Amino acid sequence: MPKHEFILFKNMMQPGYAGSLQEYERAGGYQALHKFIGKVPPAEVTMAVMKSGLRGRGGAGFPTGVKWGFLPKDYQGPRYLCCNADESEPGTFKDRQLMERDPHQLLEGIVLTCYAIGAESAYIYIRGELILAAKILEQAIEDARAAGYIGANILGTGITANVWVHRGAGAYICGEETALLESLEGKRGLPRFKPPFPATHGLYNKPTVVNNVETLANIPHILGRGPEWFASIGSPPKSTGTRVFCVSGHVKRPGNYEMPMGISFRELIYEVAGGMRSDKPLKAFIPGGASAPFLTPDHLDVKLDFESVAAAGSMLGSGGVTVMEEGTPMVWAALRLMEFFYHESCGKCSPCREGSSWLVQTMRRIVAKRGQMEDLETLVDLCKNIEGRTVCAFGDAAVAPIMSTLKYWRSEYVTLIQEAEAANLIKLEPAGAKR
Ligand code: SF4
Repeated sequence: MPKHEFILFKNMMQPGYAGSLQEYERAGGYQALHKFIGKVPPAEVTMAVMKSGLRGRGGAGFPTGVKWGFLPKDYQGPRYLCCNADESEPGTFKDRQLMERDPHQLLEGIVLTCYAIGAESAYIYIRGELILAAKILEQAIEDARAAGYIGANILGTGITANVWVHRGAGAYICGEETALLESLEGKRGLPRFKPPFPATHGLYNKPTVVNNVETLANIPHILGRGPEWFASIGSPPKSTGTRVFCVSGHVKRPGNYEMPMGISFRELIYEVAGGMRSDKPLKAFIPGGASAPFLTPDHLDVKLDFESVAAAGSMLGSGGVTVMEEGTPMVWAALRLMEFFYHESCGKCSPCREGSSWLVQTMRRIVAKRGQMEDLETLVDLCKNIEGRTVCAFGDAAVAPIMSTLKYWRSEYVTLIQEAEAANLIKLEPAGAKR
């Protein structure tokens, strides 16, 4: 695999780098802010991000500059930036590292984004369990404020951008952008009906941009080195730049790896992450966090970019790649994921609230060898009545583990049910009957 340049991990890979303001500045940090704020018109900053091809790193992959461009141009009232740091997707743990190890990289991206969209307030909505990251960010904000990078009159330009950290209370659904906004407003974190979209009716009903941590951390580099440079990395024209892939499961070297988009799953799993931990063959992998449908060894040569993974029937999602070796019981694996989604369903809409409960009950019955062949039809019927019929995308995500395991490992479901039927037949035989 060819060597590549690190962007987001460049600083933290230097020995001894601890992410302080002084270290970040010595590494060239805040130079993009000096160069752009108050000097380059905000519309040109947005245009540069559009040209770079940067797409959201939180899951949906929407083009970042286009999202910024949706904010109404003539609106005179307040606008907001919300940084989505509610990283809760099973198998995804990159934003935590970016916040803990190089917090000023994120803060510089936040202030530049505030400048581009005309926001004077930014909130970092961070998952409640990430206590260390929240503390590090709060200290970094203090340091950046003292240095004139955050607050009123940034670098003497008269421009204001304040940044606050807001800790969530541990609900997975608050990673959905409108539930995040509700929670930030002090309400229960339930997704809103869309439209209207946050670009016009966001936080406190004002124009708002919600961007993920990794997305915002890329902004200083795009502006500092130019959109053409960024657009040349990865798998242009639609999947540019690098991604931080979180590799977990049955590999020798699990961890976060920043790689150019477009490398293959084979390279990521066998070269970067060291291959299978017990040298058993690969059986399955989840390519983009628990919401993404499973893929199989036949998909090892699929490229890790938005289009290729979608064409293979799954999604790049949050970049969480969970690897499973031969011998992993796939019905059990699907049940574990389904139990997570059932637990985290916010309950706002009935297909997801009731359907996830039925799915878990049916799956538990099959895994406990009490299932019947009709249960397979029931599972598919339930999934089809959830998919595309819910208030937010959670419903589609919740059925992905079941639908994809039924597609590739249906025989494992059938075996469990046949074992259940055989056990029932034995029970029905009268005691002492000859065989
Ligand atoms: Fe809530 Fe699920 Fe409906 Fe989303 S799909 S609004 S998580 S009940």
